[in-house]
Amino acid sequence: MRILTGLILASALSAGACKGQITETPTDTNGAEQAAETTASITNPVDYRFATKTEAGDILTNIDDHFGSMQKREMGVRLKNPVDPTIEKLSAQYRAAVLDFSDEEVAFLNEVVEDSRAVLAPFRGAIPDEVLFAKISNDIEGGLPHTRGNLILFSKFVMDGYLKTRESDPEKAHYELKKLFLHELHHVMSRANPERVDEYFAIIGFKRCAFTEPEDLRLSRLTNPDATAYHHYAPVEIQGTDGLIPYLRVSSAYDADRGGSMGSYMNFALLRVDVDNGKCTATNETPQFVAPVPDFMELIGQNTGYIIHPEETLSDNFVHYVLKTEGLPNPEIPEAVAAFWKTF
Ligand SMILES: [Zn+2]
Repeated sequence: MRILTGLILASALSAGACKGQITETPTDTNGAEQAAETTASITNPVDYRFATKTEAGDILTNIDDHFGSMQKREMGVRLKNPVDPTIEKLSAQYRAAVLDFSDEEVAFLNEVVEDSRAVLAPFRGAIPDEVLFAKISNDIEGGLPHTRGNLILFSKFVMDGYLKTRESDPEKAHYELKKLFLHELHHVMSRANPERVDEYFAIIGFKRCAFTEPEDLRLSRLTNPDATAYHHYAPVEIQGTDGLIPYLRVSSAYDADRGGSMGSYMNFALLRVDVDNGKCTATNETPQFVAPVPDFMELIGQNTGYIIHPEETLSDNFVHYVLKTEGLPNPEIPEAVAAFWKTF
């Protein structure tokens, strides 16, 4: 998931409707034959392609870590209906939300992908052989870019925003879309390679713990499709507790009078936990949650303000490495992230 900058949001909201036509890129039969001959080689190019509506709908409605973790309250916010939200209703909403990309969007995304191939080559072993793209309506996950399985999802207002920027500043639009593509691709890589997550999250100081949310907390959770699990804590002592877990909640049940998308119900804070024998327990003390404290920010490196989950923080650090961001407070973190992914 990627929370968007004000610039993109503003330009997206002022952009007109776009009518999509093409859902698939032309098939390169030569490429397919070559791939079939050398399947075992990790030097094969990744097949980035546009999912059909059925493919995208199937992945979006899969009972995976995301749909499998979904609580009633967050379903109500997603459905904009707090009365009897069900996974069946949610599935119907998600399947109906798949849109066609326009010709221009297809060309734009293809440009970004082709431009990224060389810089992504060292990470080929961690990237699935096939990565899919789909466009969805703004109702899904608050219109925020995100991933499911090997599918990267771009909402209508995200694409509208980039196209609008592209009219006045094509270079900037290309850079921004590339940044987003790389951030989301990182989630696809992480999902495909979960075995060494403890070693990976340790790059920014997180440690594993067994954590089961108390019932009241679980009911309020807001599941991020790109980081569904809370299995790691930041060992930052605060107010007598041993660590912190970045945690997303819905601020309230969906309120029809207030309206608003999922994003407007999103509430983020750090949950205080006690750690004993590898087990994290949420404190019963007040405050249970705290705002990001300096020790936490220092631990995770301050290369990004995107701190809602270690997976998200590491995604941005991966982007920093690939795009060679200069002037970072802790340049060793993107280096360590890249070194990790090069071992696959
Ligand atoms: Zn993300």
